[in-house]
Amino acid sequence: MADQAHAAVNLIRAKRDGLALTSDQIRWLLGAYLSGEVADEQMSALLMAICFRGLDDAELRAWTTAMVESGERLDLSGVGRPTVDKHSTGGVGDKVSLILAPLVAACGAAVPQLSGRGLGHTGGTLDKLEAIPGWRASLPPAEMIAILRRLGCVICAAGPGLAPVDRQLYALRDVTGTVESVPLIASSIMSKKIAEGTGALVLDVKVGSGAFMRELAGARLLAQTMVTLGEEEGVRTSALLTRMDTPLGRAVGNAVEVEEAVATLAGHGPPDLAEVVLALAAEMLRLSGVDGDPAAALADGSALARYRDMIAAQGGDPDAPLPVARHTRVVPAPGTGWLARLDAHGVGHAAWRLGAGRARKEHPVSPAAGVLCLAKEGDWVEEEQPLLELRADDESRFAAALAALGDAIEVGPERPSQTDPVIDRIGM
Ligand code: URA
Repeated sequence: MADQAHAAVNLIRAKRDGLALTSDQIRWLLGAYLSGEVADEQMSALLMAICFRGLDDAELRAWTTAMVESGERLDLSGVGRPTVDKHSTGGVGDKVSLILAPLVAACGAAVPQLSGRGLGHTGGTLDKLEAIPGWRASLPPAEMIAILRRLGCVICAAGPGLAPVDRQLYALRDVTGTVESVPLIASSIMSKKIAEGTGALVLDVKVGSGAFMRELAGARLLAQTMVTLGEEEGVRTSALLTRMDTPLGRAVGNAVEVEEAVATLAGHGPPDLAEVVLALAAEMLRLSGVDGDPAAALADGSALARYRDMIAAQGGDPDAPLPVARHTRVVPAPGTGWLARLDAHGVGHAAWRLGAGRARKEHPVSPAAGVLCLAKEGDWVEEEQPLLELRADDESRFAAALAALGDAIEVGPERPSQTDPVIDRIGM
């Protein structure tokens, strides 16, 4: 620690005491953390101080810029069409990216969809697509850009060169109780999207029991913070707040979600899923200035054709049978009445315990495990009618999955009120 004024311990004390850090201090700190000069325990203390004290606007901008500058920035200027990406804060049954990327590409924009894997009860796009035999998540940047130029869409893993300090910070946050902080979440998400080089970005900020943000006020604050960061960096950004109290669509898992995504691309998707997809597609086209008709691209088969080409370009066989679970178990309706609640958190946890998700990031997932919702909130159900189908490779997983469901299912005499899956829009 050559320069005392910049010593990590002074910066930790300053943040602890509610003082603002300067841009130079933040740039030094994140650079020194990436190079190993600042230790994990020092960064942990600083992250906890940020959880309590927050970052003001200038600090947040400097923190995000330093994260972007910790690695490379992709240059998508050669793609030949306006670029627009989507990021979801994660939910249960959220297979939207699989549908949206080819759909928006079929309408004329280019979608560089860099995605992640699932951790905990929310699934990851890459885990879902890896259920398709042969499909490759990792692409060198040149191949990713070539596919994007040719097809207008690509879904792949973010390379190690994009905002590398986020990788280190996220792993540390995960084990130090410092994930739930609006400035830390916003800078983590936005640094990767800014480094990816997209011209526009639509954020799908999920709200409800199955989401990071359970309350509307927190989701609004996160959405507004990310929209401001994107706009300040020259990325046209807006956000939709969408409901995550109940699973999106009927399928929760990996192969089952791929099947539902394909059905939606073919025009036979569950209405709530189709509604969220069409709202996000319209927003992406608006931000990128492309005049397309997403409903027509679903109806005329062009979005499905683009999906098939995208899967094949990454080594996948779109016609190959998907893995099938060895065991199934039905969960019956506990009574006759309206399905008043089918809770996203409970169903997501059940899918996780069946093997669809991982507890640690090095764990594998089961492509075949998951949950099929045979009824949706607002349906009339008869006692003992099958409500859920649980799928697992290993029968011993059913007990934990049933326990994880807990009180996720509620059947009652009152018909629940219809709710629109899209709550609000934030941005210009
Ligand atoms: N997703 C991210 O990439 N970062 C966070 O901090 C939270 C969700």
